[in-house]
Amino acid sequence: MTSTGMTDQDLSPRPYQSYVYAYPHKTAYRKLTDRPRLADEWAGEPKDALSLYAHIPFCEVRCGFCNLFTRIGAPDELTTRYLDALDRQATAVREALGDAEPVRFATAAFGGGTPTFLTAAELERLCDIAEQRMGADLRAVPLSVESSPATATADRLAVLVDRGATRLSLGVQSFVEEEARAAVRPQRRSDVEAALGRIRDSGVPVLNIDLIYGIDGQTERSWRRSLDAALAWRPEELYLYPLYVRPLTPLQKRAHASDREWDEQRLRLYRHGRDHLLAHGYEQVSMRMFRRADAPPQGPDDYACQTDGMIGLGCGARSYTSRLHYSFDYAVGMGEIRTIIDAYTATEDFSRAEVGRRVDKSEARRRHLLQSLLQAEGLRLEEYTERFGSSPFADFPAELARFEDRGWLDGDAPAGRLRLSAQGLAYSDGLGPELFSPAVRAAMAAYEPK
Ligand code: SF4
Repeated sequence: MTSTGMTDQDLSPRPYQSYVYAYPHKTAYRKLTDRPRLADEWAGEPKDALSLYAHIPFCEVRCGFCNLFTRIGAPDELTTRYLDALDRQATAVREALGDAEPVRFATAAFGGGTPTFLTAAELERLCDIAEQRMGADLRAVPLSVESSPATATADRLAVLVDRGATRLSLGVQSFVEEEARAAVRPQRRSDVEAALGRIRDSGVPVLNIDLIYGIDGQTERSWRRSLDAALAWRPEELYLYPLYVRPLTPLQKRAHASDREWDEQRLRLYRHGRDHLLAHGYEQVSMRMFRRADAPPQGPDDYACQTDGMIGLGCGARSYTSRLHYSFDYAVGMGEIRTIIDAYTATEDFSRAEVGRRVDKSEARRRHLLQSLLQAEGLRLEEYTERFGSSPFADFPAELARFEDRGWLDGDAPAGRLRLSAQGLAYSDGLGPELFSPAVRAAMAAYEPK
């Protein structure tokens, strides 16, 4: 049996195990007892195309499905103290990067939480930290910012666009008010439409809309209503997320549906959504991501090989060197999150990595295979061989044979390319976890949600 509850012979695994957006997952991180110095970890690493990510862990409400690291509201000047800490962290990290090799950022993103929970003046300060402390040239690189309908106000958008934002991502989830309520994110359709109007008026080049399928009571018909409402804005990108019920989140499991029925509903809605977007001029980038075919390219997608060099600022952000992934403590429960944010704002010494996981060569291979395979365009065999001196078929024979048996690999892929079939892409959240190493699985299984 695998940790996902399947036997190796099982040809009909569950499609929704987990969203693999980063490997290894943070639940496999542990306290780094040696507290390595960042300066040592970054010495000799390539630093000429780094990604910068700033995590803002505040939201106005906690959505029922959300297990991101975020808290509701920010009492007692907490955002000021948080930005003060971010400033200290940025200063320490930039110092650790050193000047022995050129340091350059190729992409930047503000995520959360809801970065636009910050006021316009606070967003200015956040951009100042990225530019003046880290040296990121925000106006010269793709800068993506997440937002919510209530906080996407004209003054905040004006600051972000002026400072170089190229992409604004709006978490809408559903345009159907009853569905928004069922997913524990009550909002009025008119407020969502007004926010989308403000984003378009701001002139930001790329609008992304997030939608969710698998909500209690959602049908193909109501799903189509949301899709069409989103399409009316001709967003450059759309993310379609399957709904998950996760430990310690407010959303409870639907009482009247079995897991299998829910899987079926989600698969049905996924296919419906995918076909609808493909018929409306979008191309599929990954299971979740769709891009308008005539939209201008905007830099790396949700996966890029250069994510090996990632600088995360803020208490929930990860950073990656080629050998170490690190962050701070991780939690989903509200009380724990508050404690961790408070500890972060009180931190003076940011020169060491506290929590993380070492990534050896074999994990790097897995990560490359996983993250390439989960993109619609798949993995370039030549690139893999150049990087690791071997082939994925030699490194992962059992896994790839199993995927092939299940019809998850595309037999018509161009020469030199390993990519998923339509069925394989639909099962991305089942396939991904099967590529986790035994050590990472064991660490994730031993993690106690808090
Ligand atoms: S889904 Fe987004 S807006 Fe909702 S609680 Fe999570 S981070 Fe905040």
